[in-house]
Amino acid sequence: MERVSYVYGPVRSWRSGTSLGIDPIGSTSTCSFSCAYCQLGKIQQVTTEVKVYVPTEQVIEDLRALEAGGGFVYEDLDVITFAGSGEPTLAENLAQMIDAIRELYADRKKQVPISILTNATMLNDPIVRERALHADLISLKLDAPNDEVLRSVNQPAEGVTVATIVSGIKMLALDCQADTTLQLQIMIMPKWLEKDEYLAEMAAVIKELGINKLQINTPTRAKPVSTTGDYWIDTRGNHYGPGESEDIKPDFIEFTELPVITKEQAFALEARLRELLADTLPGLEIVNVYKR
Ligand code: SF4
Repeated sequence: MERVSYVYGPVRSWRSGTSLGIDPIGSTSTCSFSCAYCQLGKIQQVTTEVKVYVPTEQVIEDLRALEAGGGFVYEDLDVITFAGSGEPTLAENLAQMIDAIRELYADRKKQVPISILTNATMLNDPIVRERALHADLISLKLDAPNDEVLRSVNQPAEGVTVATIVSGIKMLALDCQADTTLQLQIMIMPKWLEKDEYLAEMAAVIKELGINKLQINTPTRAKPVSTTGDYWIDTRGNHYGPGESEDIKPDFIEFTELPVITKEQAFALEARLRELLADTLPGLEIVNVYKR
C-alpha cells in the first residue's frame, strides 16, 4: 500500500494565506487535547508523549516529490505550516524538520516563513520550547479561561490545566527572540457567552502572556465524525463538508454542525475584549474570524 504523504495542500488559510501543510504526526490522529470542534474528528490517541512520529527524511522526500509533480510552487506560498494529524510539539524531531526544510530551500530568492500551530500544552518543557522556537511564527491556542471550560471544550490529556498552559506560554514569550511572532487564537464556543465573567477571566490571562497578536475564532465548519473510530487523514487540511466532494469521502465519515457564535456576538466580544485589554495592551492586534 502506498504510504500517505506528510505534506498536504497548499490550503487557503484565512489567517495565513496560501499555506503548505507539514504533518509531523502521521496516520494516527494524536494530540494532547481532543477538542470538541477538532477538524480531525475524535482524536484517536490523546497523549503528551513526545517521540518521533514521522521521520524527517520522509517529510523532505514528500516535499521534493510534491514540488516536482507540480503540487505547489515554493515562491507562491505565504507560509509553511506544521499542523496535520495532531499536536506538532509532540514531535521530537520538530526542530530538525524545520531546519531541514530551511536547508532544502536555502538557495531560493524568496524565503517562505515557517509556522507551527500548537495548543501550547507542552511548552513547560524547555526542550519543547527550544524546538518550537526554530519556527518564525508560533500560533498558540487558548480556548478556556478556567479548567471547567478547558475540560468541556478541549478535553485535555491528564495533567494539562489552564495554569500549565499559561505558564508554558509565558516562558515561551520570555525565551522568544524579537523576530519570532507569537499569536494566540481563542476558539469561542457559545457556552462561553453563558457567563459574563469568562471574558474578564480570559482578559486577565491574556495580559500575562506576552503575545503579539490575538485571533478570535469560532468553529464555522462542520466536524467530521467517524462511525468506526478510523481516522480519515484528508481532514487534516482538505476539509470537505456535507455535500462537498462526496466522491472522496469514505462511508465511515459523517459531519456534525457545531454551535458557533454569530457575527454580532463575535464583534461585541471583540469590542469588550479591547476595552478590557486597553490599559495594559493598547496596541495588541486583534483579528476576528468574521473580518475575513
Ligand atoms: S489541539 Fe488542534 S489537533 Fe488537537 S484536538 Fe484540538 S483542534 Fe484538534
